[in-house]
Amino acid sequence: MPTNNELIDALQNVTEALANTLLHHGQKMLPADLSARRKLVQDSRVLIAGDAPGARIEIACGRCGSDDVGREATARWDVSAQAWALGSVFDDGFCDNCNSDANLIERPVTG
Ligand SMILES: [Zn+2]
Repeated sequence: MPTNNELIDALQNVTEALANTLLHHGQKMLPADLSARRKLVQDSRVLIAGDAPGARIEIACGRCGSDDVGREATARWDVSAQAWALGSVFDDGFCDNCNSDANLIERPVTG
């Protein structure tokens, strides 16, 4: 039996392969498609892993440990949804507690 994490990784790989296939055939993924793919994987992670210990993660500042952190991203106007949709999420992180750029780390949610 595959573990929950292996199932989620497989789902992530499949959706990524589909996106690459689209690209290969000259179709571009729209920001809305990309955020839909991200949401699918995230929702599945919650669905499959549930409340299993260590399955859920939080993102924190690598310097001070605060979870008051964020990442640079773009938002694009989605005419049909009449709302801003998350576009690209960049690697650059920042910590509001340190009030500076930060190296963000993942850690399991405890309790
Ligand atoms: Zn910090």
